[in-house]
Amino acid sequence: MSMVSETLRIEGTRAGDGRTVAGVVNSIETLEGGGFLVRRPFPKASFSEFDPFLLLDEMGPMEVAPGEAKGAPDHPHRGFETVTYLLSGDMEHKDSRGHAGRLRAGDVQWMTAGAGVVHSEMPAREFARDGGRMHGFQLWVNLPKRDKMMKPRYQEIPNSQIPKATSVDGLVMVSVIAGQAMGEQAVIETRTPIIYLHYRIKPGGAATQRVPGAYNAFAYVVEGEGLFGAEGERAGDGQMVLFAQDGDEVRIENPSDAKATLEVLLIAGVPLNEPVARYGPFVMNTEGEIRQAIEDYQRGRMGAIDS
Ligand code: MN
Repeated sequence: MSMVSETLRIEGTRAGDGRTVAGVVNSIETLEGGGFLVRRPFPKASFSEFDPFLLLDEMGPMEVAPGEAKGAPDHPHRGFETVTYLLSGDMEHKDSRGHAGRLRAGDVQWMTAGAGVVHSEMPAREFARDGGRMHGFQLWVNLPKRDKMMKPRYQEIPNSQIPKATSVDGLVMVSVIAGQAMGEQAVIETRTPIIYLHYRIKPGGAATQRVPGAYNAFAYVVEGEGLFGAEGERAGDGQMVLFAQDGDEVRIENPSDAKATLEVLLIAGVPLNEPVARYGPFVMNTEGEIRQAIEDYQRGRMGAIDS
């Protein structure tokens, strides 16, 4: 990954309290970890970050044959957070601090790498043996300068403890991973204000989500096709919708003639507005801090996984 840092210019015209759409971004397909295919709206050459977010990967959806499941063997992180949200599949996580966890459908792992961990993200043994449907997301959330060297922290929340709400008309359902929506407050704590919502909207349904004007906000379409923002811009499966910073609400609609439920991740955060020095799994503020991270990793100061 390059160390180039570009900032996308967000402009839009104001329309009441509803944000307009600043752009629609297509995903690229790329191989990650041990060789699994991901769809990635960012980073890419023309769009390297969306402050405070550094990356979004969609793994699958795909049918994995017995013995064919791949993961991401031992690798380090420093200076940011990785958020894994699994919709289908079974993953095992292990790290250099002796932490181990498991993720199944609907579970979330919010890992604050801070000063550094070496971890592995692999298919669970049974899933690797039997195969099955794999679908999930990984979001990278940047940490503010003051938190980049904090002690690593995990928040592992099973599906049953992720707050969920359904609209009165029954057409809109939301899972509240971070922030608040439809009267529910997330159980996950974030270092800076972050909203991470999974909306499922049936045909004819619409969601209006409060997103304070200071937040950068985007939607990623997981499934279906919907209308976004004040002007009802159309976007579908695998596309990322960037909202302008021109209002306090975001509107998402699934047209009444749609054939399928619209599934969308709505993600927003207050920009850090700090320098970003980025090299692969390390995201710091200066090139010197990146060199230090590489040296600390190479000298084993981030530890190693006992196996
Ligand atoms: Mn990782």
